Amino acid sequence: MTRGTTPRRPSRSGRQEAVRATKSIAPKSAAHPAVRRSTPAAATPKPAVQNKKSAARYNPIDPDRVRQIIAGLDQMYPNATCALHHRSAWELLVATILSAQCTDVRVNMVTPIIFEKYPTVKDFAALQPEQLEPDIRSTGFFRNKAKSVVGAARMIVSDFGGKVPDTMDELLTLPGVARKTANVVLGTWFKKNDGVVVDTHVTRISRRLELTRHEDAPRIEQDLMQIIPRERWTDFSHEVIWHGRTLCMARNPKCADCKIEKLCHAADKTWSTVEIHKDAKP
Ligand code: SF4
Repeated sequence: MTRGTTPRRPSRSGRQEAVRATKSIAPKSAAHPAVRRSTPAAATPKPAVQNKKSAARYNPIDPDRVRQIIAGLDQMYPNATCALHHRSAWELLVATILSAQCTDVRVNMVTPIIFEKYPTVKDFAALQPEQLEPDIRSTGFFRNKAKSVVGAARMIVSDFGGKVPDTMDELLTLPGVARKTANVVLGTWFKKNDGVVVDTHVTRISRRLELTRHEDAPRIEQDLMQIIPRERWTDFSHEVIWHGRTLCMARNPKCADCKIEKLCHAADKTWSTVEIHKDAKP
């Protein structure tokens, strides 16, 4: 039977296999380290939390642990890639600008229409932002996005010979392009690992997995770049984003179906066979 269809309930004795494996670092008072949060509050045993001794030994960014997390993500999402539809670096750049505060599904509904209307970068460069606004209105923040797209098109035409630049420094000169957008374009289209894409999913999951303690994208990216091998930066980003969409959602993550569950001590897990770390939270 598929795991997750009928998730294991914590045993009354607390002697699950995984509990025995972590016994040496579990607090003595933790009779029931495994806990399913969805059980009624009165019947839910308190999650085991780190004591000072185990916290001192535990290193969440231990290279072995990071390797296991990457291997688990590879196993779960072997074909993860960017969900934004595109046929060129320009189309990917536009789609990524439009995806801010918007779902990829919505962006994928809008982009075919605008690329049919304005097939080339030059067509966009010739527009006034107000002309683009009605077509991208449904993606939200449409006035700013229209300015960014048209501004980027004009600069690509005037400064880069009509071609989307393929370096971080150059991409960052384009209006509306910050590191996240640049990383998407460089990693997905140009196959260059210049950084890690840090969006809402990567932020939440990196914090749950204790790969960072920071909350802001620049420092989270720096932390991840220190511990993830460079050749994996883009794949890691895509895999974590897919994980955030399919299992590790902000609310009620499907921990019983997660292949890296044993490596995750997140405080807001819905199912756990390992001790909970109260600081490991989004
Ligand atoms: S165990 Fe749950 S919280 Fe942890 S990574 Fe998996 S789905 Fe996310």
